[in-house]
Amino acid sequence: MTTPYVAKWYFAMALDPIHIGSHTKELGIVDNTVVRDPNTNLPKFPATTLAGTCRSYTAMYFPEKFLRETKPGKFASCAGKTGEEHTDHCGQADCPVCVTYGFTQDEKIGFTSLVQFMDGQILFFPVHSMNGPVWVVSLNGLNSLVNANILQPDQLHIQINPERNHIQTPVRNDKINLGWILLNVTSTDHPLTPSGQAALKEYGVPDELLSHTVLVTDKLFGHVVNNNMEIRTSVAIDPHIGAAKKGALFNYEAVPRTTIFYFQAIYKDPRNFEIGGKRLEYDYQWIQKNVEQGMRATEYLGLGGMTSRGMGRTLFLNLES
Ligand SMILES: [Zn+2]
Repeated sequence: MTTPYVAKWYFAMALDPIHIGSHTKELGIVDNTVVRDPNTNLPKFPATTLAGTCRSYTAMYFPEKFLRETKPGKFASCAGKTGEEHTDHCGQADCPVCVTYGFTQDEKIGFTSLVQFMDGQILFFPVHSMNGPVWVVSLNGLNSLVNANILQPDQLHIQINPERNHIQTPVRNDKINLGWILLNVTSTDHPLTPSGQAALKEYGVPDELLSHTVLVTDKLFGHVVNNNMEIRTSVAIDPHIGAAKKGALFNYEAVPRTTIFYFQAIYKDPRNFEIGGKRLEYDYQWIQKNVEQGMRATEYLGLGGMTSRGMGRTLFLNLES
């Protein structure tokens, strides 16, 4: 039996701090904050950013699509938005960019994206402690893995009370600090059974991280994450004089290196769609391959902003194609 779509969970790790800007000016100590989920107030990796980044990197593998010469000295691209005159996308039935991510050509003709991304959520977040780096995970984080069918209910081994500020970790048996907060360790059992840990390793989550996991309540997770974001200060350079602009000191926050986030991508079966009166003959694996090609490039080209300032490189942990 064929299904009209295939859903896949992706796990990714920040190799550099990642800054996906919220583009809102808030009153606070940080000038440039990252985008947050309005419900949890936790930093997130918006679906639009993931889709836009992948589109643009997939296109780079096809130089004739990335930069198409339309007239001598005039270029268009399938990589980005369609442009004011809606003529940028080639819209051809064999274009790995336009077919995969959708296109618009003049205002009337549009083709929907055959991949749908969900927002990425933080799963494991690194914090320094007296025992070196540890990775915090929340009750909600582990339960979502069960809801997502990534883990089975009996692979969780939770021993903390959601109402109390205590933690569960195999790292240490009395107290441990997460940044500046000192907390009591209630249980030194790992919050995942050995088979639960093995299941996450299958998705590429590193051993080192799993052996230094700290389970915290959802409330505490919010505090720990928001108090341990990376904040960098930078200065804008005046290109004319090659020195710092006056009053140009600014800072920005970023999700720290080695944070693990995850999200779902849905691949639609192209055979249910037509372009120019012809049914598409590709299978969903072709769509997935094109998308994963884009994902793979984030290891070098980065995700989010400030990539020219050493930010953004991201390693996808469970690519297949
Ligand atoms: Zn195209």
